[in-house]
Amino acid sequence: MKTAKSPAKSAAKSKPAAKASAKTRPMLINGKWVQALGGGSFPTFNPATGLPIANVAAGEKADVDLAVAAARAAFETGPWSRLTASERGRLLLRLADLLEKNLEEFATLESLDNGKPLGVARVADVPLAIDLFRYMAGWATKIHGRTFPISVPYAPGARFHAFTQREPVGVVGQIIPWNFPLLMAAWKLGPALATGCTVVLKPAEQTPLSALRLGELIQEAGFPDGVVNIVTGYGETAGAALAGHPGIDKVAFTGSTEVGKIIVRAAANDLKKVSLELGGKSPNIILDDADLATAIPGAASAIFFNHGQCCCAGSRLYVHKKHFDKVVEGVAAAAKKIKVGPGHLPDTEMGPLVSEEQLARVLGFLESGKAQGAKPLAGGTRAGDKGYFVQPTVLVNTKPGMKVVEEEIFGPVVCAIPFTDVDEVVAAANNNIYGLAAAVWTTNVSRAHTIASALRAGTVWVNCYNIFDAALPFGGYKQSGWGREMGEEALSLYTETKAVCIRL
Ligand code: ADP
Repeated sequence: MKTAKSPAKSAAKSKPAAKASAKTRPMLINGKWVQALGGGSFPTFNPATGLPIANVAAGEKADVDLAVAAARAAFETGPWSRLTASERGRLLLRLADLLEKNLEEFATLESLDNGKPLGVARVADVPLAIDLFRYMAGWATKIHGRTFPISVPYAPGARFHAFTQREPVGVVGQIIPWNFPLLMAAWKLGPALATGCTVVLKPAEQTPLSALRLGELIQEAGFPDGVVNIVTGYGETAGAALAGHPGIDKVAFTGSTEVGKIIVRAAANDLKKVSLELGGKSPNIILDDADLATAIPGAASAIFFNHGQCCCAGSRLYVHKKHFDKVVEGVAAAAKKIKVGPGHLPDTEMGPLVSEEQLARVLGFLESGKAQGAKPLAGGTRAGDKGYFVQPTVLVNTKPGMKVVEEEIFGPVVCAIPFTDVDEVVAAANNNIYGLAAAVWTTNVSRAHTIASALRAGTVWVNCYNIFDAALPFGGYKQSGWGREMGEEALSLYTETKAVCIRL
């Protein structure tokens, strides 16, 4: 994720949020839909028009306190603490079914609030969230320990039965971003609920609507009160109160590397557990033996999917010199063909960026790139003058050290860079503070394996990009994060291992 601060968030620090009205959407605390104790609210905008679409409660520290207390009570003494693993799994399955039943509504909410094409939310965001809940439901009954044949030298002749059991880590604070609002909520809630934790979830202030609707389905599915609490609010207020809260056992965060470091500092006070999924500047490498008919559209979708607002976007495109011109021209042609427009129109392929702040940030990168000598083969500017649209952009003449090459842009902007030597391109690919994802396009299986091993990234795609599955762990090396979400590995983020040793 990117690093700039939004005007909305700065405003949150300097002036109080607007007063809540009868239409302000409440948040979910202890099974009740409530307004913020301070009475504040904030608008969420349609990024295609810049106009407000809803008003949401502006939760602050006092609201987070209530939510944490509810989650603590639910974890320690509520009905949730007595549910069997199988019952937890069944609740998650019910939630997945409800989400499926309401797929169209969720796709519409995501498109309206985030700006993404409705058709994409319909086939990607919502189905992936449904799958994730189903996958994690299956794990609820399969979280178990092991036994150990121990031999204790200072207890000769004594016999022991030693084993481990996995227990929920406890009350979890989860802070999520705006690029895949529902899916990020699912990645966080699924494993936490499968393992028996309770949660205070804070959606991004730019895109709170799908999480609030999900809260209604969580109730309808039958999760007991207090198990999932959803507090809407700004990062510096609600988010900071949650990250530093002494009443939570763990904080799980997805967002910018800059805020990730703030989270770690806040959690350090009482050494609560932390998992982080942060930024990226992912290298996408096309070798001289690649099948260009798949590599060229693959490189285009690697950067342009979700308008480049993916932490794993293939934003550094390394192409063997032999194919450089053909590939960059192909990716530029694909960029020019992309239909940019409001997410709700059926022929839209790329919607607006999520906010005015993001628009300014991406345009700032484009200016800086051009000033440093980069040349746009496609795009390079804003699209239209209403809403937050940017043209899909392909930059050539880029050099190591340029801001556009080194930093995460979080927009539809790819830097294309030629190479000749495989070792050199792997070294260049790894020469970045991030290590979230990478890809290589080749028809040689041996080179595919060798390069996949050499790349310092949490995910390496070969001859594909942006392939996600609930079973496959996702997370980052280096400054891209701590821990892995999804897959069996996600369970370790939400469990403690207890060793029990019984003298027989
Ligand atoms: P972006 O800049 O793209 O909004 P952020 O990393 O700032 O990305 O935001 C990701 C999530 O982190 C959002 O839910 C946001 O409200 C939250 N957040 C932002 N600042 C803080 C903070 N200081 N403490 C806790 N959470 C924060």
